[in-house]
Amino acid sequence: MDRALAIVLEAARPLPCEEVPILEAQGRVLQEEVRADDDHPRFDKALMDGYAVIASDLEGLPRTLQVIEEIPAGRDPESLSRVVPGSASRIMTGAPIPPGADAVLMVEESEPAPGDPGSVRAKARVKAGDNLAPRGNDVRLGEVLLAPGEFVGPAEIAVLAACGRTRARVARRPRVAVLATGDELVEPERTPAPGQIRNSNGALLTALARRAGAEVHYLGIAPDDDVLLRRLIARGLEADLLLLSGGVSMGVYDLVGGALRALGAEVRFERVMIKPGKPFTFATRGATLVFGCPGNPVSSYVIFQVFARPALRRMTGVPRPSPPPVRATLVAPLRQRAGRTGFHQARVRWTGSGYEVEVLPTSGSADFVSCARGNALAIVPAETTALAAGDSIEVLLLDDHADR
Ligand code: AMP
Ligand code: MG
Repeated sequence: MDRALAIVLEAARPLPCEEVPILEAQGRVLQEEVRADDDHPRFDKALMDGYAVIASDLEGLPRTLQVIEEIPAGRDPESLSRVVPGSASRIMTGAPIPPGADAVLMVEESEPAPGDPGSVRAKARVKAGDNLAPRGNDVRLGEVLLAPGEFVGPAEIAVLAACGRTRARVARRPRVAVLATGDELVEPERTPAPGQIRNSNGALLTALARRAGAEVHYLGIAPDDDVLLRRLIARGLEADLLLLSGGVSMGVYDLVGGALRALGAEVRFERVMIKPGKPFTFATRGATLVFGCPGNPVSSYVIFQVFARPALRRMTGVPRPSPPPVRATLVAPLRQRAGRTGFHQARVRWTGSGYEVEVLPTSGSADFVSCARGNALAIVPAETTALAAGDSIEVLLLDDHADR
């Protein structure tokens, strides 16, 4: 399994970049360094509503100061009157500190001067620098604020906006083609005739790829027929990544491997020691990656999560393509046959002090409902055959695990 993943990740190369409006960069990976375009704050700024004062002027209390002006946020610092001993300016949070002043006295620590509406009485002392942020306090001009490889979320978008950026450089979205194969398949809107089943993997793989940030081109269903299969796979090979379902086992009509070879793709491996998902064909043609997933829905789901999702993450420039697992405590014993790494559909819950994990009962790799019931994959190493309740194991949280 580790070798298979290494082969997949080695073949997945970061895609070229594009510039997009900052709000469209959300959920994508930054591919440039972003430096501060100025000091932040850009001027010495009040952090409290109160009075701009000279700290040393407030040594003997109470001290009455003459209020020389009122400074709301947004005033030009050049236009302000100088504060001199015996005077103060009323100032609002975010407003520039006037020349002469070196501290802000909070309004709560002042009171009106009795009988003198033009003055204020200080009830507390302040130190120079109190309740103000000097220019450059948060960020210095030229400081690196965002680095390549960072996920762009709301906070990163705010940094870009604060630096006057309207566009950001991100890796282009991967173009993913999805093709289901199998003579037995009909699309969901059709009622299956005897012997037919609905194609759920087409929708599954499309949704998974979209959630991973890809632009998906759905190619429909290919019958188990060499000519038609090749024709559709040839179209899929024009994408950055082709997700195929079905036709990769040992049956007479498992034609995907042969079709890929006939089209000039290099099949890199056709089996991987995991359960479910053993008959997984991975191929490349040029820069295009092909994931030939087994038709069983649970197998397709696991192959996507374990191999295709990390590949897509690498293509979009994420420095660590495999999302790290977390540790969780098993709530019930678990057995598996030795030989293959097990990925069990599971539900993870936060207990308040850690995660606990329940492996879901399943009738096998065709049990497509088990994926919908779970929110994680419990990973059991190939050599482990029995685990007890209370054992700590690794689980892979799936993207929207917190919602379920
Ligand atoms: P295969 O890998 O083609 O041998 O298919 C394995 C099993 O998965 C068979 O029972 C198929 O009927 C089923 N299967 C194949 N493709 C799909 C699909 N697109 N949606 C749901 N089940 C499928
Ligand atoms: Mg088939």
